[in-house]
Amino acid sequence: MKNKHFETQAIRAQMERSENNEHSTPLYLTSSFIFDTAEDMRAAFNDESDAYIYSRYVNPNTSEFINKVCLLEGAEAGFATATGMAAIFTTFMSILKSGDHVISCSSVFGATHAVFTKYFPKWNISYSYFNTNNVIEIEKLIKPETKFIYLETPTNPAIELIDLEVVGALAKKHNLLLIVDNCFATPYLQQPIKYGADLVIHSATKYMDGQGRVLGGVVVGKKELINDVYLFGRLTGPSLSPFNAWVLSKSLETLALRMDRHCENALHVAKALEGNSKLENVSYPFLPSHPNYNIAKKQMKAGGGIITITVKGGYEAAKLFLDKLQMIKISPNLGDARSIVTHPASSTHCKLSEAERLTVGITPGLIRVSIGLENKEDILNDLLQALK
Ligand SMILES: *Cc1c(COP(=O)(O)O)cnc(C)c1O
Repeated sequence: MKNKHFETQAIRAQMERSENNEHSTPLYLTSSFIFDTAEDMRAAFNDESDAYIYSRYVNPNTSEFINKVCLLEGAEAGFATATGMAAIFTTFMSILKSGDHVISCSSVFGATHAVFTKYFPKWNISYSYFNTNNVIEIEKLIKPETKFIYLETPTNPAIELIDLEVVGALAKKHNLLLIVDNCFATPYLQQPIKYGADLVIHSATKYMDGQGRVLGGVVVGKKELINDVYLFGRLTGPSLSPFNAWVLSKSLETLALRMDRHCENALHVAKALEGNSKLENVSYPFLPSHPNYNIAKKQMKAGGGIITITVKGGYEAAKLFLDKLQMIKISPNLGDARSIVTHPASSTHCKLSEAERLTVGITPGLIRVSIGLENKEDILNDLLQALK
């Protein structure tokens, strides 16, 4: 499968057929596996065979999903988790120890920020944030105990981009690991491993599922690092359920097709809304007016499915706008076939102080729109009538 194209890999990278010769992958709802002999079981537990043992470790459905994501990201190995946060937390815990330091972009997913600020201090792990628009700052933040650089691009929800080539080179120069949360872009639009990322993390809940059905997460990358992530996961239990893995493997079959349409719809809506008199700003990576347009063009195949708009009139105007939408629903999710709106300041990022929110670009009027797969004119028209 390694020499095939993305779409083919996403569809054809399936587990081997059982004796029933099924065409579509069956679901293996079993918590454990049996061994023909005591010797077989001993060998499996001693890593002398790759027989399935217990679904907390890995299961045929989770391994199919992991193998697919590895192919799509160009990674050596992976581990699948129950949620995106479980993938992030499992990765942190398997790599870090007391006394370590990490450097992260300042605008990270809200719950990731909470892990840094609320829990890292408890375990004597320190962190520094670099300004997303100033990656050169990273060099000044490096300490002898710095372990990795962590980032998201495009960032959530401000839709800023970080130059992966520049940060990849910095990480290499200083012998630091680079970990990228690639949830917004998906491997179809951007592959961080090409730029030197050691590990890539996904919330599979978003575009990988793409239909708002299941939660899931996955971390892929260098085998020696994944060995540690896998061991920690196998022992502490954040594992992905076989059912969700089965759903996600099927979802990946249509990832390329869906992303093309998400991107086409989002670009159309962003262009049409730009300059609207009710809006202060429209942000989308593939709009030439985007401050990071050149970075976007360099490292992304297309602009992705998320746009942000900033309504004039702050919080009150934002609330009014959301309540006037007829088709598009208010929800904290993104990457769904249905378009979704979120008001980050009052919801996903409400635990940040006002000042913290402003430093990561979350103003009271900012609205994140996850552009779905509906007809693009219907999406646009709903937004336009609500803006009126
Ligand atoms: C949603 C999200 C997560 C967390 O994923 P869950 O599956 O909800 O745990 C992490 N990072 C980013 C960028 C996300 O959008």
